[in-house]
Amino acid sequence: MKGAKDEGFKTVLVCKKDRTSLYKRFKFIDDIFEIDQNSESISPECQEYLKENGCILIPHGSLIAYSDIDYIEQLTVPIFGNKWILRWEADRNLKQELMTYAGLTTPQAVKSKYDIDRLCIVKLHGAAGGRGYFLAWNRETFEKGALDLIKQKVIKSEDDLYIQEYVKGVPVYLHYFYSSINNEIEFLGVDRRYETDIDGLGRIPASHQLGIGIQTSSYNVIGNFPLVLRESLLGKVYSMGENFVQAAKQLVPPGMIGPFCLEGVCDASGNFVTFEFSARIVAGTNLYVMGSPYSSLIYDDPMSMGRRIALEIKNAQKNTDLKVILT
Ligand code: AMP
Repeated sequence: MKGAKDEGFKTVLVCKKDRTSLYKRFKFIDDIFEIDQNSESISPECQEYLKENGCILIPHGSLIAYSDIDYIEQLTVPIFGNKWILRWEADRNLKQELMTYAGLTTPQAVKSKYDIDRLCIVKLHGAAGGRGYFLAWNRETFEKGALDLIKQKVIKSEDDLYIQEYVKGVPVYLHYFYSSINNEIEFLGVDRRYETDIDGLGRIPASHQLGIGIQTSSYNVIGNFPLVLRESLLGKVYSMGENFVQAAKQLVPPGMIGPFCLEGVCDASGNFVTFEFSARIVAGTNLYVMGSPYSSLIYDDPMSMGRRIALEIKNAQKNTDLKVILT
């Protein structure tokens, strides 16, 4: 929203009632549309309001995590980017299909708990933000972790879990912007996440961890750290982004428009293993409200991801047709 304001747009925030007092503090938010506390998505009234005011909706993670994807697809308010690709982000099987089609290296999926023969990460379906994930290295540790989640009523049964090979290396989250108008990909930043309680475990000595029998370690995101990559990795970063854009064009027309993020681990040989993608702006881009080391190589103005979206909307208005970047 700050970026949109910097580019001269008026801004409307859609949020739940309990967040209004927070967002009222910021001058770059011109207007707030409050939705009901129990509402899971944009209400029909809200949609009407946005349409009457000529708004363009910018999708983000919470929209996908909490709204029904059929409902998002049926929205008639113009959405920046390709709303059809959001289903491919939300559904693990489609997500895997797109990443494989793009030629990205991905962690091996483990079909059943009986096939666990190495360190694995066990995930919940949907964009849960890492909450409830745990590590397992055989059937017993899987069953113990699953039982804990069933007792906590996080899942109903083991079928709600998805097992994946654990990739050893360091996590990196690559922020891209694809301009379908210029047919050009821009790498605008990179971050790593601060996840609890996994990132806090190193603060407890191993002997104490064993003593108190720590088992389930969630990967719940609390914040993000900035990062710059070893320069020799940048070539790979650009090709991965370009391959992803090509694959999205073929599998999910009109393809990837605007911001997206490839999320994975870089291993000891400098290879990227991608376990997720986000087909829209990600929270990690908040680090670079004033631009990033990468955006400043392309733009003289401080170019945040939000501002880049706004610029694309302006460019479409000026040079082609707004329709090419909306769905
Ligand atoms: P996700 O919800 O898939 O983004 O995963 C949450 C966190 O779990 C990531 O930020 C990583 O720290 C970790 N993670 C997810 N998948 C893997 C994997 N296959 N190997 C290693 N770590 C992973």
